[in-house]
Amino acid sequence: MSVLVTGGLGYIGSHTCVELMNAGAEVVVVDNLYNCKKSSYDRIKALVGRDFKFYECDIRDAEGLNKIFENEDIDSVIHFAGLKAVGESVQKPLEYFDNNVNGTLVLLDVMRKHGCKKIVFSSSATVYGMNNVSPLTEDMQVGGVTNPYGRTKYMIECILQDLCVSDKEWSVCLLRYFNPIGAHKSGTMGEDPNGIPNNLMPYITQVAIGKREKLTVYGDDYDTHDGTGVRDYIHVVDLALGHLKAVEKVRGENGLFIYNLGTGIGYSVLDVVKAFEKASGVEISYQIGPRRAGDIATCYSDPGKALNELGWKAERDIEEMCEDSWRWQSQNPTGYPD
Ligand code: NAD
Ligand code: UDP
Repeated sequence: MSVLVTGGLGYIGSHTCVELMNAGAEVVVVDNLYNCKKSSYDRIKALVGRDFKFYECDIRDAEGLNKIFENEDIDSVIHFAGLKAVGESVQKPLEYFDNNVNGTLVLLDVMRKHGCKKIVFSSSATVYGMNNVSPLTEDMQVGGVTNPYGRTKYMIECILQDLCVSDKEWSVCLLRYFNPIGAHKSGTMGEDPNGIPNNLMPYITQVAIGKREKLTVYGDDYDTHDGTGVRDYIHVVDLALGHLKAVEKVRGENGLFIYNLGTGIGYSVLDVVKAFEKASGVEISYQIGPRRAGDIATCYSDPGKALNELGWKAERDIEEMCEDSWRWQSQNPTGYPD
């Protein structure tokens, strides 16, 4: 029995494939290479020391997906594939709804045709919107999202919930990620954004290697301990390990399950800058700029439900996250090879 991993060559997907295979699972990856390099496949293979199936295919290609389900013995899916840049989603809403929402509909339809009704979905803390107060718990009202990217996550959550109501054979796990950073300990896998990074950690690491001049801190007048935005950063390997527990869950039980994957600890932008400087020994130049539209002051999880029901807990601290991000960036200054 294999797990189909959509978007499995991307940042979170690649780390999850390594942990799945290290735990003995059979993995089949589908990725259209839109936001990753093929060399990510070679790096995963080198780390686990064995081959696995990779299909270059778009999840909106029903025929292509159908063939994969015919060829492989797939019993469950981890669904990472999607577009994820908040700013770009404001400029290109149709592309985001097509890729993320339509892509998921095509995938679900093919899964249903093949009697595969177990799925773990990459959702996001963004579904909690602007109005809930941290620590965020899974029972809070979701949907107050402020951009098309967030809306695609919220819409897909709704679609999957309706599916579970319609057919009790489905087993769906919605994982709401907080802020994944860090990289594999080996330094051979990590986050490799195209162009100017939108997210804090890849921006910091690019300043550290001299690719960017200085970080702009988006606002220092929030109601937080130092005025800069507070987030719940989680090591990507801890996040990957959460998926192993989630797959176990959907393999073992039908129904709908929702979990936050975070540490429960909030760090400000300046806390992260300091932690990175300590871990890397490199000073990070920064300037204070205006707030970024759509940002909130504070966002961190209550990760208790995942601990109680999945037995999962993030183990890696901010120091390790920074060390591993730095090892990846310094050993791969231009990211994955072409
Ligand atoms: P990523 O861009 O590194 O990985 C996504 C992968 O999906 C890429 O390899 C891309 O080529 C592939 N892909 C995109 N559209 C596809 C399609 N139509 N068909 C086939 N493959 C396709 O992103 P990531 O950071 O690894 O994120 C994975 C998932 O987790 C995404 O759904 C993202 O929205 C979600 N998520 C990410 C974060 C984060 O901060 N990284 C936070 C919350 C949720
Ligand atoms: N941030 C920043 N400068 C940057 C990128 C991000 O100050 O170049 C801040 C951002 O305002 C937020 C935090 O860093 O407070 C995390 O932002 P990121 O985009 O990484 O994740 P988000 O929580 O917005 O999804």
